[in-house]
Amino acid sequence: MLRSVILAASRSSQVERLVATAPYTRDVVRRFVAGAATDDALSATRGLVDDGLAVTLDHLGEDTVTPEQATATRDEYLNLLSVLSGAGLTPAAEVSVKLSALGQMFDEQLAYDNVRAICAAADKAGTTVTLDMEDHTTTDSTLEVLAKLRKDFPSTGAVLQAYLRRTESDCRELSSAGSRVRLCKGAYKEPESVAYQSAREVDKSYVRCMNILMSGDGYPMLATHDPRMISIGEDRARWFDRGPERFEFQMLYGIRPEEQARLAGEGYTVRTYVPYGDQWYGYLMRRLAERPANLVFFGRALVSKK
Ligand SMILES: Cc1cc2nc3c(=O)[nH]c(=O)nc-3n(C[C@H](O)[C@H](O)[C@H](O)COP(=O)(O)OP(=O)(O)OC[C@H]3O[C@@H](n4cnc5c(N)ncnc54)[C@H](O)[C@@H]3O)c2cc1C
Repeated sequence: MLRSVILAASRSSQVERLVATAPYTRDVVRRFVAGAATDDALSATRGLVDDGLAVTLDHLGEDTVTPEQATATRDEYLNLLSVLSGAGLTPAAEVSVKLSALGQMFDEQLAYDNVRAICAAADKAGTTVTLDMEDHTTTDSTLEVLAKLRKDFPSTGAVLQAYLRRTESDCRELSSAGSRVRLCKGAYKEPESVAYQSAREVDKSYVRCMNILMSGDGYPMLATHDPRMISIGEDRARWFDRGPERFEFQMLYGIRPEEQARLAGEGYTVRTYVPYGDQWYGYLMRRLAERPANLVFFGRALVSKK
């Protein structure tokens, strides 16, 4: 019910106008989105890197339904990578890419060609790419694209979602040497047939997956703001003798910045996921709709800096 209301609002230009012109909107958006332009992304990245954090950048795009939109997204990433490299911000900054923004929904070959061009540009810039994971209907196709990309660009990162029942097995498959894997809980509304539904089950799965990745040979990227998961991650790092060059924590821009600073101060590698672009309305609304718990997630961030 709540999800349907938010999704309806995300498609309403009237609500968008209302939200966009509300007194505190700009402050709220700027807390979670670096800005509209490449230069905004650059200055946010510079600030975070100066503070000892690593960065992954996500160019926000609306639903990509034409080849022209897919190509424009690719070109923005190519431009971004060249700007980051010119500013000396690689390899501290890498990029995160959604295959749907590159055409996956209507032309898988086009999406592959586009992401391959981005991987080649990242390689040239001395950094890498992580493939964001979307809803479960795209998991197989995204992992197939990942396997193909890794033949030429072995450091291409995967994302696995602990709420999916299949993920423990995917973690085993992807825990080989050099394999970069971001583990998150998962942000989409998924059916019970494929995903755990309760927070407790998802958390237990997250810990099982973390154990597989942290005891394996790959490079785990623990993406969570959850204090319990972070503390278990710190514990496993000690247990499996993983220093800051062998795993990292990741959090979203604007969420728990003091915790990001604390972990970095303790010597951990911490990467902030920085979205930018003028399509922030759809991004914020979809994040809320994907998981109604995120209403609390964003709401809490508005009143707390911890
Ligand atoms: C770097 C990164 C990349 C991601 N990439 C993807 C992706 O590719 N695909 C995908 O499906 N999802 C992705 N996600 C989203 C992820 O799946 C979750 O939806 C999101 O991170 C919320 O889960 P959580 O683990 O942070 O904890 P939650 O279960 O949301 O929260 C658990 C606890 O964390 C603490 N907490 C959470 N938020 C706050 C806050 N704002 N302030 C204070 N405390 C807070 C609270 O104690 C809370 O009880 C990504 C997340 C991150 C951090």
